Amino acid sequence: MNDHYDPSSEIQDFLVFGEFGDVNPSITDSSTYTFLSPDTMKEVFEHDIEGCFLYSRHWNPINKYLAKALSALEGSAAAHVTGSGMAAISTAIMQLCSMGDEVISSRTIYGGSYALLKNFLPRFGINTRFVNIIDLQAVEGAISPRTKVIYCESISNPLLEVADIPALAEIANRRGLTLVVDNTFSPMILSPIRLGAHVVVHSLTKFINGTSDCIAGCICGSEAFNNSLSDVNSGATMLLGPVLDSLRAASILKNLHSLHIRMKQHSTNAYYLAEHLQELGCRIHYPGLPSHPQHILMAQLMHPQYGYGGMFTLDVGDEKTANQLMTIMQTEKVGYLAVSLGYFKTLFSSPGRSTSSEIPETERDKMGLSAGLIRFSVGLDNNIPRTFGRIVKCLKAVGVVSENVMIG
Ligand SMILES: *Cc1c(COP(=O)(O)O)cnc(C)c1O
Repeated sequence: MNDHYDPSSEIQDFLVFGEFGDVNPSITDSSTYTFLSPDTMKEVFEHDIEGCFLYSRHWNPINKYLAKALSALEGSAAAHVTGSGMAAISTAIMQLCSMGDEVISSRTIYGGSYALLKNFLPRFGINTRFVNIIDLQAVEGAISPRTKVIYCESISNPLLEVADIPALAEIANRRGLTLVVDNTFSPMILSPIRLGAHVVVHSLTKFINGTSDCIAGCICGSEAFNNSLSDVNSGATMLLGPVLDSLRAASILKNLHSLHIRMKQHSTNAYYLAEHLQELGCRIHYPGLPSHPQHILMAQLMHPQYGYGGMFTLDVGDEKTANQLMTIMQTEKVGYLAVSLGYFKTLFSSPGRSTSSEIPETERDKMGLSAGLIRFSVGLDNNIPRTFGRIVKCLKAVGVVSENVMIG
């Protein structure tokens, strides 16, 4: 599985020159573009001409640069950038499915994706069957003649289940379905397209941008699929219009070039905290720990140099303790009590009451999403033992760890 492909080398080889030789390509501050001849304009309506732009909802140069860099990251033939991760997910699914079609989705996905599939798309006749994505028989059993898409997250939000992408791709290929994978939690670490997925979506808002200063997304896939998205007559991104602003595309492109360094540091820090907290008897979910149900699978699928990712969860049992702990951790400068992830500082939140609140309580219980679960997106801290010491102090204050426990 782990051939010599390295996403960071692909990004490093992505060299572009701005029109004045600028090392950062110029930001086009234009919604529309001139043509020297009306004939060329007609041609651009019919098909893309390299280096020719029509209107910025369709394409603009800096969005194209960013899209090319993202397709290098994911090893896809093409990519598209969008104004948010949800825009990437909704347009990809709406491009692939029509009225009467069905999606098979993992039940442990981002709350917004769950609500889109569960509440919104049925209005347009697109229905979803939610399954335990780890149970491949359940996936296969849910396929009907109307199924078009299998949808999952490579590492799921918030329970950090690792999807068996090669096995899901095998099912999808055999049954003529499109496997769409949200790789937001594991850029660089996992390359779903190289593992067999057909389409990868991202919320660039998270690790890829890494500075929590904007909302953006992308869709990576085949040339044909990406052309279909931007088709002026029938493309979901063209016609629903979730275009990314060119100024933002430029700043994301710059941040993308430090992603490999950041992912290594996020992973090293999360591993340290997860391992040491588990040693203290805390209930931790982290794909890097042997206690994680898909630890071995993860090790087989990942590019090892980027580690097991920056996300772990801590279950403190009940909502009240979780709330107390998060409040104290913010005061003790562990990080911020905030939703989202992939920021340079540690962020923590209680998914049951925030990012997964769209999922009904009975469903949350079924999937093991307890009210005492705290999700950590670990930051780039240079002194992680110090952060660990602070977390332990907070855990003692709320009675999750005994006062007598001594740490190095
Ligand atoms: C945040 C997130 C999204 C949605 O992305 P936005 O950029 O907020 O629209 C989708 N999937 C996952 C896994 C996420 O964490």
